[in-house]
Amino acid sequence: MSTSLTPSPKTQHKPLLGQSLAELTDWVQAQGQPSYRGKQLYQWLYEKSARSLMDISVFPKQWREQMQDYPVGRSQIHYSSTASDKTRKYLLKLSDGLIIETVGIPSQKRLTVCVSSQVGCAMDCDFCATGKGGFVRNLQAHEIIDQVLTVQEDFDQRVSNVVFMGMGEPLLNLPAVVPAVHSLNQDVGIGQRSLTISTVGLPKKIQQLAQEKLQVTFAVSLHAPNQALREQLIPSAKHYPLHALLADCRDYINTTGRRVTFEYVLLAEVNDFPEQALELSRMLKGFQTHVNLIPYNPIAEVDYKRPNSERIQAFVDILQKHHITVSVRYSRGLGADAACGQLRATQKNEQAVVMPS
Ligand code: SAH
Repeated sequence: MSTSLTPSPKTQHKPLLGQSLAELTDWVQAQGQPSYRGKQLYQWLYEKSARSLMDISVFPKQWREQMQDYPVGRSQIHYSSTASDKTRKYLLKLSDGLIIETVGIPSQKRLTVCVSSQVGCAMDCDFCATGKGGFVRNLQAHEIIDQVLTVQEDFDQRVSNVVFMGMGEPLLNLPAVVPAVHSLNQDVGIGQRSLTISTVGLPKKIQQLAQEKLQVTFAVSLHAPNQALREQLIPSAKHYPLHALLADCRDYINTTGRRVTFEYVLLAEVNDFPEQALELSRMLKGFQTHVNLIPYNPIAEVDYKRPNSERIQAFVDILQKHHITVSVRYSRGLGADAACGQLRATQKNEQAVVMPS
């Protein structure tokens, strides 16, 4: 795998994926083509899986050949593996050779894609595999959209939901995440409420996102009922006191009219004590919220443990007693290292099953 960041000739042009119908129409006209080819290009990019202009059989042969190296913005499936619950993890190779992870999670009525927003992650949360490899670069909007189309094509089923819960911190890449959300909504056809942005929470960033007035589902990774423990688990929390984070969440609710989900990874005998459930309930009193408990998924570097089901239920009961809506998210894809927090583009995985590309 080459990790060179030198742009290839293909990356000097703005990739076509991620562009709107109007932009694509302008582009075809600038290439001396009639405007109706914009609509054709749009359909082939978003519905008919075009990976190169050569694929677009309705375009004149000579023009296709001339433009065959123009970047469409699609990645290659470098590797994929399927867990026993049918969750499928992909390592996708980007145009500069870097690898990211994406997960397709099928259920009876849905197909959810867990997308990465960055290559690696700078947050270094203690219990998360992605941060262990550090941060490499931000993804561009088309590299986010491509992940959704790749899963849609591979499953041969329309994607119903997208969660920004793969590698990276989406709020540190808003210039790509916001356009990707608009394109997934308008061009790929996924309702904004079926898109979830999950963040560790960073000063000023929640306000910045609120200003976009998106109707997406917004989730904040809380993971602790007090500042001291949160700082222990999430290094970036040192620069963002809990009271400031919660105040920003309240403002977010007021600005967007949408409630905030709080995610809470349950780590046995670290943050799953009944007193902590009580502390959390007090902290969230009066908040328009929903708490999503995520029993810890094991990673190699640290020796946290997942609480047993009695402890999880006891935590749930305390929150419910205090009128807090709560759900437990048992992550899918554990067998393929594709569950929440297990994503890292590892060498081991790359060698396990390599798809022909
Ligand atoms: N940077 C974003 C997205 C991260 S992944 C964020 O922090 O929200 C989505 C969720 O998975 C986050 O709540 C994250 O804290 C959680 N997570 C990370 N590692 C985990 C693990 N080992 N087990 C369970 N959940 C984990």
